[in-house]
Amino acid sequence: MEQLKDPWFTVSEIDNTTFAISEYGHWEKVHSYLLIGEEKAALIDTGLGIDNIKRITDQLTELPIIVLTTHVHWDHIGSHGEFKDIFVHKDEEDWIVNGIKGLPIQQIRKDVSRDITIPTPRDFNPETYTPYTGKPTGLLEDGDKVEIGNRTLTIFHTPGHSPGHISILDESTGYLFTGDLLYDTTPIYAFFPTTDPIILVESLKRISNIPNVTKIYGGHNTLGLETSILEDVRNAVEDLEEKKLVSFGTGIHRFKSFSVKF
Ligand SMILES: [Zn+2]
Ligand SMILES: [Zn+2]
Repeated sequence: MEQLKDPWFTVSEIDNTTFAISEYGHWEKVHSYLLIGEEKAALIDTGLGIDNIKRITDQLTELPIIVLTTHVHWDHIGSHGEFKDIFVHKDEEDWIVNGIKGLPIQQIRKDVSRDITIPTPRDFNPETYTPYTGKPTGLLEDGDKVEIGNRTLTIFHTPGHSPGHISILDESTGYLFTGDLLYDTTPIYAFFPTTDPIILVESLKRISNIPNVTKIYGGHNTLGLETSILEDVRNAVEDLEEKKLVSFGTGIHRFKSFSVKF
């Protein structure tokens, strides 16, 4: 396939039916992922919403697309409004329908518009930027299997960073999509009122023991992490628990390949 060129998004072909759609021009370095099955395609998150991710997915597949939401934070639901079929974990149904209460829009507008290194589309206006809200097509639960045609995606409820956060295992390839539960370079966030360090650590422990994972794809920073990070996670969890550091306000904890902020 010829490399797809786009002014805002960077498309990386992970394999011929799996694509990462990245936003490297923004400080958050967000990744969304398109997984193409034989009957449908699944889009894991829809990015920042600075530009329209559907322009990219339209070029990659003609199959109907279902959106699987790792969690309802604004930086992962940016283009949700462009798609018809949206799925979210049941514990974040209220957030996607009504928005997150107590999160000031001024803060979101500041964060969406700062530290951008490439030109933004002309119709992007940080002063009116508003996170997506809407009624989802369906709700997800732990253990759900999403079938997209000879390709099965298993849903793991992995709360902590947010109450209805999910991780998604592509059974056919062993790719594990971890959203904001696990990525490298910058700390994993669990220091807001809606986060929970104890539950986050439980979720990390859980994903680090999933068998047959071949590669980890997080929601930010480095694209594609080696499975050795899972061993690092197991050691980190043990270390944090032993030192009684799993609580709000204990700060940033750095490990070999990732860090967390409580
Ligand atoms: Zn998040
Ligand atoms: Zn995020």
